[in-house]
Amino acid sequence: MITLCIATNNEHKLKEVKAMLPDGYKLLSLKDIGCDIELPEEQTTIRGNAQQKASYVKVHFGVDCFADDTGLEVEALNGAPGVYSARYAGPEADDQENCKKLIQELTGEENRKARFRTVICLFRENEVHYFEGIVDGTITEEGIGVQGFGYDPIFIPDGYNQTFAQMSEQQKNQISHRGRAVRKLVDFLHQGA
Ligand code: IMP
Repeated sequence: MITLCIATNNEHKLKEVKAMLPDGYKLLSLKDIGCDIELPEEQTTIRGNAQQKASYVKVHFGVDCFADDTGLEVEALNGAPGVYSARYAGPEADDQENCKKLIQELTGEENRKARFRTVICLFRENEVHYFEGIVDGTITEEGIGVQGFGYDPIFIPDGYNQTFAQMSEQQKNQISHRGRAVRKLVDFLHQGA
């Protein structure tokens, strides 16, 4: 059995990845390995943050591990909020405040192109591997839909006419940045299984 830690305590992420892993893998959460601190995310890139979280677990807990980090990059804002997506409207900002700020920043802006980017960093044995998932789309003028989280109510993926917040979880996972990155990771693990 190969033991792999996913650097999260998010039950939803845990369940989703568990269901996709090949036989022979045992997936552990941060709680399972006794890590109860908030992992450091002090880098200026999404890739850097994913790397920092995964390497923290590997170094301090000695287990193979992967971590993901995500940001929303808006073209007209030169890639903002990007790595700062979680705290765009301030350190304590919630999802609604972040969405509101983004809509405000884009007032009168015709270019509403944006993309979600997820990077997963895997520390396995003595190697480091990266997996990226991207979904392109546009930012709406107002929030629509109640599913999901974060910027879902204001993001319409290209080729669709609904926001992520109007889609079922399953539908979103099929096309989302995180779904794509996770599938690349899982394909990689299958190759080595
Ligand atoms: P994290 O790296 O997964 O914690 O994501 C950082 C921030 O990006 C979150 O706090 C959300 O604001 C935003 N975000 C990440 N994934 C999604 C998503 O699937 N939909 C909408 N917003 C997201």
